[in-house]
Amino acid sequence: MEPTPKGGFRQPAIFVGHGSPMNAIEDNQFSRGWDKVAAQLAALPERPRAIVAISGHWVTEGLATRTAADNPVVNDMYGFPRPLYELDYSPAGDPTLARRIIELTGGAVVTDNGWGIDHGVWAPLTHLFPQADVPTVMVSVAPSLGAQAHFELGRALRALRDEGVLVLGSGNVVHTFAYATASLPEGLLPWAKEADGNVRDAIFDHRWESVVDGSALGANRTKAFQTTEHYLPLPAILGAAHEDEAIDVWNEGGQLGSFSMTSYSLGMPR
Ligand code: ZN
Repeated sequence: MEPTPKGGFRQPAIFVGHGSPMNAIEDNQFSRGWDKVAAQLAALPERPRAIVAISGHWVTEGLATRTAADNPVVNDMYGFPRPLYELDYSPAGDPTLARRIIELTGGAVVTDNGWGIDHGVWAPLTHLFPQADVPTVMVSVAPSLGAQAHFELGRALRALRDEGVLVLGSGNVVHTFAYATASLPEGLLPWAKEADGNVRDAIFDHRWESVVDGSALGANRTKAFQTTEHYLPLPAILGAAHEDEAIDVWNEGGQLGSFSMTSYSLGMPR
């Protein structure tokens, strides 16, 4: 158990690779990985009172948060089987917490109620908190601001972990449609595996600046993603982490050759 300065429980910070929306309803190695982490979360000494969810699927010009009391489902994916669209995972929002996010970031985050809970967040949460009973506050990514601004976003949100709030970032370390191959349904191409492993090593070696600036990806950096929105939740989660806390890597690997599912928990009790 990770104690807070006040002696309470510090909630973990989690980066989850979400991949295909189908992971929400399929039984595969990654959805089973989500179920394992769900069991860890169910065993926390204190249940999180809320989740702040930074989503690689909510892309805005500046950083934004939903301050409304609800989270309508945004089905931002096309051509999938009907059961996926019928999931309707829509936990309550938390307007007070959303306003606190705006305050903690000194107004770098603004209100935007034009988005709800997208599959980047509802797909893993259907496994992590299946009852949809933990209020969830959505936060966007803003690629035009660069990765450092997302690290700083996470740093501003870090204090919330000591107030019973779980900080979640959802994206993919490697995420490139151009190299996707159906021949590797549950696997990564060699270059993608290397880039993903380089990031893992940099996280465990605490070379977090290199994760933030992208140099940790190595020689295949430009192949790892062509747009940054799926990567940016990772710098945010590192910002929300403490250097000395436990790091777990899970769901290591990927789908379709060029979508890494590798996920990290920081400060998860052992
Ligand atoms: Zn995605």
